[in-house]
Amino acid sequence: MRGLTPVWEGQVFTRVVAHRPDLRRPLPEALGQRLTGATVVRLGRRAKYGLIETDRGDTLVLHLGMSGRMRVDPDVIGKHDHVVFETGNGRVVAFNDARRFGSLDLVETHVADQHPLLASIGPEPLGPDFGLALLQRSFADRLAPAKALLLDQRLIAGLGNIYVCEALFRAGIHPETPGGTVPAAQLQRLATAIPAVLHEAIAAGGSTLRDHAAPDGTLGYFQKDFAVYGREGAACAQCAALVARIVQSGRSSFFCPACQPRP
Ligand SMILES: [Zn+2]
Repeated sequence: MRGLTPVWEGQVFTRVVAHRPDLRRPLPEALGQRLTGATVVRLGRRAKYGLIETDRGDTLVLHLGMSGRMRVDPDVIGKHDHVVFETGNGRVVAFNDARRFGSLDLVETHVADQHPLLASIGPEPLGPDFGLALLQRSFADRLAPAKALLLDQRLIAGLGNIYVCEALFRAGIHPETPGGTVPAAQLQRLATAIPAVLHEAIAAGGSTLRDHAAPDGTLGYFQKDFAVYGREGAACAQCAALVARIVQSGRSSFFCPACQPRP
């Protein structure tokens, strides 16, 4: 959203074309008509949703899913450029999503908070309500593994698998530790680690965006060097042990068995 803001903020959508009727869900009816002529007032974010507010009282709610990207000023419109937005400044942005797990919804701005997608989402990890107290409330008396609690969007908004793995590593918490048994000192480390890994990821994304002339001008997911994520069998950055991987609820958890001992 930080990358898209300078392209879209204050601009009129001059043409919006959907090349298919659906992504993960059906696209909003008459999406092109409803957006064409509207001015983008503000771009924001809630959890993993990008929020693009227009002067018509609508907000476009965007989720990149697994593989979605926003291609800015692409040379050619490709097969997976499902929705193409043109703005008055002559810029073209294509929502590209090969696997189509992404979504676009159009909601009324004044009730956006109560929209089913957004209503039950917990506090933002980079917002004022995040901290040790929130983690203590979320973990107290819980038998669910720490990993699952951190991925639960109702408890904390927007944490994805990668950042949960990295934060648990920094806090020295085994991903299978029942929430209620995590010691206070480790919860405190977790309260510091979560915003830290997110800030580092945003900074890494930022450095990619500055390089905006990157061949396809893509905004979206970016690779970064992780301590444990995706590093099964590699040496831990902090000790001699090898990074391990287990599967929890169908998602891979990467961790160091020495730095994050089983409870
Ligand atoms: Zn280690």
